[in-house]
Amino acid sequence: MGRKIFYYNSVTSTNIIAKELAENGLEEGTVIIAEEQTLGKGRMGRKWSTPNGEAIAMTIILRPEISPFMAPSITPILAVSAVEALRKLTGFDVKIKWPNDIVLDSKKLCGILTEMNSDMDMINYIIVGMGLNVNQENFDDEIKEVAVSLKSFSGINFKRKIIIAEILNEFEKNYEIFKVKGISEFLDKLKEYSVLLGKRVKVISINNSFEGEAIDIDKDGSLIVKKDNGEITKVLSGDVSVRGM
Ligand code: ATP
Repeated sequence: MGRKIFYYNSVTSTNIIAKELAENGLEEGTVIIAEEQTLGKGRMGRKWSTPNGEAIAMTIILRPEISPFMAPSITPILAVSAVEALRKLTGFDVKIKWPNDIVLDSKKLCGILTEMNSDMDMINYIIVGMGLNVNQENFDDEIKEVAVSLKSFSGINFKRKIIIAEILNEFEKNYEIFKVKGISEFLDKLKEYSVLLGKRVKVISINNSFEGEAIDIDKDGSLIVKKDNGEITKVLSGDVSVRGM
């Protein structure tokens, strides 16, 4: 990972650039990094803010020979990798908020967005992007209640290059294990780092919302929630938002 890096000052979104490069045949492991995103993307058309020079915006191009059904698992694999890299470098108690965020001090430190291009049962490419707040001291009004950076939490300035290198090293290692053994190999870590397990949650999707307790992570990576009426349900990472309460 990262043996070929495309570095930009300002882009619309590193996922958009990665898609163009992947369409043009760029190989697996190519990394796109930008100092600023003007149209940073979250899930479901939401925005991700990446101010110039203070955060990490990077996207990795992957071409795994796995079933397209396994592609969404790339998000938790990168989440585990980033958590382990950040814990090692900072010692902070960073955690995963299922399915795609990394949190610190109950606030959002990092978001991950995986997108896939496939034909029938073959993956052409996957791009997995992350926005990680590193040295921001302040956030825009819209997100200041929910966002945190390594610096806003600790007062310490961090070197983004070192963080990027450590995340890529961890991810490369975990990605190789994942391709052979699948997501189940990472269940223990996903549970250990989960901020939702054992908590009351509200699950919100387009046509259905309910409350309950997050009780487990299933062997396919989905979240298991016990609804208030006692029914146990599996929540797939697709288009849902989960709020801790
Ligand atoms: P939810 O938290 O509702 O489940 P989500 O995790 O799916 O949403 P994402 O799509 O991952 O959200 O991220 C987009 C949201 O993150 C935005 O709507 C905004 O509230 C918040 N956000 C945007 N930029 C940042 C940032 N730099 N740091 C932290 N949070 C941000």
